[in-house]
Parts: sequence; C-alpha cells; structure tokens
Amino acid sequence: MSTDSILRSKIIDGKKRSLTIREWIKSEILKLKESYNFIPGLAVIIVGDDPASHIYVKNKEKQSIESGMNSWKYILPSDVSEKEIIEQINKLNEDSMVDGILVQLPLPKTSSVSERNVINAISPEKDVDGLTIINSGKLACGEDGLFPATPSGCIILIKELSLNLAGKKALVIGRSNLVGKPIASMLLKENCTVTIAHSKTKNLIQECKNADIIIAAIGIPNFVKGDWVKKDSIIIDVGINRIDNLDNPKKRIVGDVDYEEAIKVCKAITPVPGGVGPMTIACLLLNTLKASCIRRNIESPIYNFTV
Ligand code: NAD
Repeated sequence: MSTDSILRSKIIDGKKRSLTIREWIKSEILKLKESYNFIPGLAVIIVGDDPASHIYVKNKEKQSIESGMNSWKYILPSDVSEKEIIEQINKLNEDSMVDGILVQLPLPKTSSVSERNVINAISPEKDVDGLTIINSGKLACGEDGLFPATPSGCIILIKELSLNLAGKKALVIGRSNLVGKPIASMLLKENCTVTIAHSKTKNLIQECKNADIIIAAIGIPNFVKGDWVKKDSIIIDVGINRIDNLDNPKKRIVGDVDYEEAIKVCKAITPVPGGVGPMTIACLLLNTLKASCIRRNIESPIYNFTV
C-alpha cells in the first residue's frame, strides 16, 4: 500500500456514517407514519443573532426536514428574559406534536439568563440535547435516557472500530457538561478505564502517551501534538476552531489535534471537518426519534441504536 492509502485508511469518516444513520432515520419515520400515523417533530429555540449559532440551527432544521421530521424554529431577541424563554419552553412541553426541544447554546454573552434554569425547564422526555439534570443523572448512573448528541456520535464511531472496548485506556481531554463529562460516562459504560484531563491536569503529554483512545474536546486549535499519541491509538477530535488562512480571507476550520502529524502515528482518527461534527446532528435526530417512540410507548429498533 502507498503511504497515501495507508493514511487514508486511518480516517474515520463521520460524514459517511452520519449519512447512513440519517437514511435509516428517514426509513424509520416512514414506517412510523404508516403504522401509527404520526411524524416526530423537533423544536429549536435560538436566542439572539450570533451568526455561527444561526448556521448550526439552520443545519439542524434542514436535516430534520430532509429526514421527514416536523421542524419548528423560535427566534427570540437577545434581551429576552429568562421568564419569557421558560414560557416558550412550557408551551412546547405541553404541545403533543413536539417530541424534542432544544435551546441552542451558548446563550448570548450579554444575556443575564441562567442557562441551567432554561435547560432544566425542558421536560426530560423531550430533552433531545440530553442536558437536563435528570438525563445527566441517568447517564451518570448508567440508566437509559436521552443523552448528548456529540458524545453519542463519538461512541458510535469508536464502537465501530474497536469491538471490545473493555479495559481500554480512554483519555477525555475537557470536562464540559456538553462533551467531556457525558463522554466519560459513556466510555465507563463501555468498561473503558477512563481518565478525564482538563486545564489544571499535570503531565498531560504522559496521559496522552498512555491512552488507547483519546477524545479531544478542548477548543484550542491543533493542541494535541502528533508525538503525544501512542501508536495504534484511536483519536476522536471534537474540537471546532476557526482560524485564519494565510492566502484566503475566509477562515478555516481545524480540530483540537494536530491532524497531519497525529494521523502518521495513530491507528485511526476523525478529521475536522467531516468527523464528529456531522455525527452530532445525526444523533440529535436519533434522540428525537427515540423520544417520539418512548412518549407513545412504541417499540422501535431505535432502542438498540443509541448508547
Ligand atoms: P468548553 O470550553 O466548555 O470546555 C473546554 C474544556 O477544555 C474545559 O473543560 C477545560 O478544562 C479544557 N481545557 C482547556 N484548556 C486546556 C488545557 N490547556 N489542557 C487540558 N484541558 C484544557 O468546550 P466544549 O463545549 O466542551 O467544546 C470543546 C470543543 O468541542 C470546542 O472546540 C467546541 O467548539 C467543540 N464542539 C464540537 C461539537 C461538534 O459537534 N463537533 C459539539 C460541541 C463542542
């Protein structure tokens, strides 16, 4: 094999995998429509006018519709009060057509609204981002529930590479409620030996060198270097960082791992873009489908799909 094809064989193609998941969701929705005469629906609330958040929401809306779901979007002004956001959430909690509710985060920096209060106002059965205290607790206790989409996407990609994760040393870099903590719980459930590293961790390079699996969720471009990673390791790069291009005014997206160097050493790696990112929306749609079946007491193969 040429060096090029060896390197190509190490790429974990999240874009391709997410497409097959979305096709599967589409076919399941058709079956639900025929058998039970309903269509799952996702409602998204976005506060303020942050362009990146609006792009994320637009993609979620587009992909929900493409998969055959109902989709609703509520744009609230950046000076909206916590009470008004929660009133909107309560309406959606009561609406029987709505299966999933998502508040796009982060809320505007200028807002004095508490993200935790807003998230916890979402009914746990409709919490398709898996961020309410109830679903976070269920994940931590190893019970079934609705769990965050990005970590779920990472686990699907990892499980396809390494059938037996039991005893594997997994290093999660980052301890956010959105990514680091939930993925650590999911890896524990897979019987990995999990280490969580963060900004105060000492000897991070050594921790990386010990790890069979590295999940990088830091938010610093190219932070994890190629010579930090072990041969035969699996690297999942969650980071999305916009950096300047030398010869092009448009910004370029890179991950938290020095991809060009790490791919030469590791066994498999997710690229950025095209790795974890596309899996996130696919897993959000999986959660919406799952929530819709659970609320209606419908047996569905979806229960075997998510982590
Ligand atoms: P966050 O800012 O909430 O958390 C970052 C974590 O990195 C913190 O826990 C911090 O302790 C840790 N950290 C910071 N500096 C460090 C250092 N020097 N050494 C070790 N750890 C350090 O971010 P987040 O919401 O968890 O997101 C992380 C990254 O993942 C960001 O780039 C974000 O854009 C991206 N992200 C991607 C997706 C996706 O769909 N692909 C979804 C969510 C987040």
